[in-house]
Amino acid sequence: MFVGHYSVAFAAKSDKNKIPLWVLFIAVQVLDYIWATLVLLGIEKLRVIKGFTAGSMLDSYFHPYSHSLVTAILWSVVAAIVYKVFCSRHGCHYTKYAALVVGLAVFSHWVLDLVAHPRDLAIYDNTWKVGFGIWNYRDPEFALEIGLLGAGILLYLTRNVMPAIRKTAVIAFGAALVVIQIGDTYVPRNPLTDKQTVMGVWIFYTLFVVVALLIEKIGSRRQTSAP
Ligand SMILES: [Zn+2]
Repeated sequence: MFVGHYSVAFAAKSDKNKIPLWVLFIAVQVLDYIWATLVLLGIEKLRVIKGFTAGSMLDSYFHPYSHSLVTAILWSVVAAIVYKVFCSRHGCHYTKYAALVVGLAVFSHWVLDLVAHPRDLAIYDNTWKVGFGIWNYRDPEFALEIGLLGAGILLYLTRNVMPAIRKTAVIAFGAALVVIQIGDTYVPRNPLTDKQTVMGVWIFYTLFVVVALLIEKIGSRRQTSAP
């Protein structure tokens, strides 16, 4: 799963919980950030094999610390606590459920990976591996990614009051994510090394976080100064 993860970030944001979209963009990819870092450090293992599945070249055969069910739950709890502590220290808007929403956003990554991945997700440690393997079916997997993203963006646009210019920017961002997913799924390319692949993960995911941050600044001054 790639851009489909961001559907949860868009869907989770509401005018009530006021969690910044960029925070949710990090939350839904926390497990991959940890994974990319551990692969760079040589602790988790990845092979990049052309045609490994129809929709992905990633043979992530050892990732028990970032992607097992037990550690996914653990990281979700840690993220919820971090968000709560951050908010209480920095006085940001905080509702009772915001930390829970952030924790669930982190955990959603594992659920969506479970749908897409071949059987490489351990329940605990490196054993009892599960995965529904939609990545073996290129078009359905692509349709799922885009369908989820579209639904998430629709929810974001309907649940949050925002100026028209920001709505346009959100739709443009969604379109850019679709183009990136088309490139990832359909454009043939030679496999990068494991380290290059996870560096790409860090760079692209962080770029998306920055865009999410900038998008919620569009028209915000006008909105807050309104009576
Ligand atoms: Zn993942």
